Amino acid sequence: MENIVISTGSMHRSHIHDECGVVGVYLTGGGAAERAYYGLVSLQHRGQESCGICVCDGHQLRSTELKAHKGMGLVQEVFHKEDLAALKGNMAIGHVRYSTAGSSCIENAQPFVGSSSMGSIAVAHNGQLVNYRALREMLQDNGATFSCTSDTEVILKFIARYHRGEIEISTAMRKVTKQIKGSYALCILTETALIGVRDPCGIRPLVLGKAAGGYALASESCALDAMGASLVRDVQAGEIIVIDKDGLHSYPLEESRKTPVSKHSCIFEYVYFSRPDSIVDGISVQSARINMGRMLAKEDKEAGTFLPSIKDTVVVGVPDSGLGAAEGYALQSGIPSGMGIIKNKYIGRSFIAPTQTQREELVAVKLNAVRSVVGGKRVIVIDDSIVRGTTSRRLVALLRKAGAKEVHFRVSSPEVLFPCYFGIDTPSREELVSAQMTNEELCREIGADTLSFLSLEGMCKALRESLESGKEEAAFCEGCFTGKYPMEVGE
Ligand code: 5GP
Ligand code: MG
Repeated sequence: MENIVISTGSMHRSHIHDECGVVGVYLTGGGAAERAYYGLVSLQHRGQESCGICVCDGHQLRSTELKAHKGMGLVQEVFHKEDLAALKGNMAIGHVRYSTAGSSCIENAQPFVGSSSMGSIAVAHNGQLVNYRALREMLQDNGATFSCTSDTEVILKFIARYHRGEIEISTAMRKVTKQIKGSYALCILTETALIGVRDPCGIRPLVLGKAAGGYALASESCALDAMGASLVRDVQAGEIIVIDKDGLHSYPLEESRKTPVSKHSCIFEYVYFSRPDSIVDGISVQSARINMGRMLAKEDKEAGTFLPSIKDTVVVGVPDSGLGAAEGYALQSGIPSGMGIIKNKYIGRSFIAPTQTQREELVAVKLNAVRSVVGGKRVIVIDDSIVRGTTSRRLVALLRKAGAKEVHFRVSSPEVLFPCYFGIDTPSREELVSAQMTNEELCREIGADTLSFLSLEGMCKALRESLESGKEEAAFCEGCFTGKYPMEVGE
């Protein structure tokens, strides 16, 4: 029997947008829930709307029931000492879910728990299916019922359908992944095993770690560090990992294929989403951001925009995700950098605010300029991205109010022109400010003296230069910048 604790009421959710974080833990000695908790706290930046942990005591076989605790809010708000103490087991999976403009509800909180003829199953999913509607209709025609609007429930129903009789979980997962299309990094719990799966393009990240007495899986390596596990490797695009009492087993999604053919990991993980201390697919996120900043300075130099000898100029990064690029820009150009913008640590990411007005108010509370750093200066302000243009407009105003003489806005990624169908919460084209106006118009709109973006070539070059030696050449999904996606986006 599952034991789901719900800590708030529900609201209706109009659309699916899931940029989330997942963890999985397998420890021979127990204590899996605590480890999962530390992992989730470290992945909090990937989602603040809801979270949950599901455990099983499969190894010791004292009890094979799956127990889950989920709630709305931050990991530290949802889990108290007693909740963790009640989640006894040697295997656990966990999930943090991202909040977007609009509604949110407890029914969509993960992990999802269901049952198959082989026993209980739980699923935690980061990503987004592009054929969700068709699959849901197909399952409904066959009598399945759904309790929420999340595409993850479709994955759970398919696992339950295929994991039966003599069919092993790895074989069942192969069948499931023939049906589902889109992006998925999955952590799955059965009564006897922990399973990790990454989609054939490897769009969303997933890493494998080794801990004393077991293994861990996580969206980002920073969570492995927090769980007391060391990074072994990335789960490969199109790989199924099964961890059970006999150890770790790896299977390709397709029997015939030994290596992935079409790896396209999400480029936006390096721009914004991942934490700087994470290593994603062999690239340190912080190194990538520093190199993107360096490249931005090189492109400015080629364009003849700035002379490094000019006094009274300061490079200022927008915390947190713009700081790495600002460091790189300053190193490359020789222009000094300063902490000219301060971010209030106690405010969640501004996209959480449901309306445009509220979003603008939140930005004002969240960021402030430091007069002693920017006053009387020509400021080169560097942010990682412009999406709706809300943050940049506010920032230019704040810097001018604090006495900046000139404000030159630099963005360490190209113009976001197309929506993401694979799990990043980029809005529709109408809301993407770069899809609606030219850079000149946008510069005027945000009130900057000049505005420029890193070129896509520059960005890819910076990422290649950040690749750890010995790693295979990186290939990315650049859909948000180019509109070219690694697969049909269909629905
Ligand atoms: P804008 O204000 O232009 O809509 O968004 C750009 C700002 O939001 C940047 O400072 C960037 O760091 C941040 N940002 C970029 N992508 C995302 C996202 O997917 N979610 C959230 N919450 N913020 C984002
Ligand atoms: Mg930002």
